[in-house]
Amino acid sequence: TMAHSKALLVLENFIGGKFVPSSSYIDSYDPSTGDVYCRVPDSGKEEVEAAVKAAKDAFPIWSSKSPLERSQILNKLADLIEHDLEAFARAESKDQGKTITFARTVDIPRAVYNFRFFASSILHHTTECAEMATMGCVHYTSRAPVGVAGLISPWNLPLYLLTWKIAPAIACGNTVVAKPSEMTSVTAWMMCKLLEKAGLPHGVVNVVFGTGAKAGEALVCHPDVPLISFTGSTLTAQRITEKSAPHCKRLSLELGGKNPAIVFDDADLTQCIPTTLRSSFANQGEICLCTSRIFVQRGIYSEFLKRFVAEAKKWKVGNPSDPTVNMGALISKEHLEKVRSYVKKAQAEGARVLCGEGVDSLALPTGNQKGYFMLPTVIVEVKDESCCMQEEIFGPVTCVVAFDTEEEVIQRANSVKYGLAATVWSSNVGRVHRVAQRLQSGLVWTNCWLVRDLNLPFGGMKASGIGREGAKDSYEFFTEVKTITIKH
Ligand code: NAD
Repeated sequence: TMAHSKALLVLENFIGGKFVPSSSYIDSYDPSTGDVYCRVPDSGKEEVEAAVKAAKDAFPIWSSKSPLERSQILNKLADLIEHDLEAFARAESKDQGKTITFARTVDIPRAVYNFRFFASSILHHTTECAEMATMGCVHYTSRAPVGVAGLISPWNLPLYLLTWKIAPAIACGNTVVAKPSEMTSVTAWMMCKLLEKAGLPHGVVNVVFGTGAKAGEALVCHPDVPLISFTGSTLTAQRITEKSAPHCKRLSLELGGKNPAIVFDDADLTQCIPTTLRSSFANQGEICLCTSRIFVQRGIYSEFLKRFVAEAKKWKVGNPSDPTVNMGALISKEHLEKVRSYVKKAQAEGARVLCGEGVDSLALPTGNQKGYFMLPTVIVEVKDESCCMQEEIFGPVTCVVAFDTEEEVIQRANSVKYGLAATVWSSNVGRVHRVAQRLQSGLVWTNCWLVRDLNLPFGGMKASGIGREGAKDSYEFFTEVKTITIKH
């Protein structure tokens, strides 16, 4: 085919500081054209075994370095990625389908910041101490890295989420074997090329590419990997939990969401509407924190809907490298079909689609006709029990429904299996505070969305995950604590 006649980008595993060619590969598609443009190693047990061995061998040297030495290396790595920011942003956009603008302003700057943040944060932890004068004792805690950390990341924010795990893991003195999503492996591979230059000893960061079923599971099942940090779907997390159970592994699970936005009648719509458009459709709706159920108080329901749909229709979908485009392509053909099928199911149940899929036509540039594009889609007249209101769609689809009272909306917002993020829009401080307290959600943003201080805990309740990530939380996860008692 045409695609194969072009020179394909061929990735290699990165094990013990060396790039290692693979014996078999997976095709990776450019979602904006539908062409195969890259080949990703299809690793399995053998490659994971070699990577874990390299990580184990590197552990004594790396774990005995001072936090300051590790910090300097992390900062150097941040500088090197930042130096190549434009190349990384282009690669992320091509691999994932997101706009270059989004990769340039969100994904890659955050990957850089992840290393800088943990380079600094690692210098500021203290451990606990308790005196017991009557017994002549003093107790204190000490923290040490755990060992080889297994890190598994998804395709939606590839380098952003992978580095959010690598940075704290190695800052704490662990060595790692990382397994990025087989659909978005390129920027992880690019980062590997910078590790030696940053001063990272060989074997501290190893990256094994491949599918979840083969490479991911081999990592999860490896007896010498005591800890797994996973971000991805709830279904995969169940499998990882089962597979790791015989080894009693420490797990951090960051999973899906079905995030509500609650808009009270005293909300400032000039702020709420543009932010809720972003929270629904940013990155093609492929962010775990994206809004997909919008509850609007009855008195402003039609006003909200009119303005929201008018703005959604203005969103431009197309070539991800076009700077005027708001939304790029979805990750894969299969995912696009899945997202579309939700819209069809909603219609079959009697819901109405006000804009987007099946309603408006999407004109694409010639080169993008086979890409996986879809318009921002707004669904109304949908029941709370509908799959569109219960399941994570993970695409540019949002449902808008009306509510009457505070009590009612809290119940309805909580009536899903997930509990990751929520937004609340109101100018009444007391109400905002009451509602935030009662929402079953790891994160609640009021009158804003996606504003993060990395010091504070990030993570979900219920089926949205186990554990939290953040300065203190990640430090605790990636270290083993010991209580020591000294009697004089
Ligand atoms: P996924 O669960 O299919 O895959 C995630 C990763 O797990 C990939 O690297 C995959 O190869 C690997 N994997 C798959 N099966 C495995 C197995 N049996 N053993 C070990 N590893 C396996 O998820 P996805 O489709 O890549 O990502 C989308 C999902 O991620 C959504 O549900 C989204 O909400 C979630 N997500 C959550 C957060 C968060 O912080 N809570 C952030 C981003 C994405």
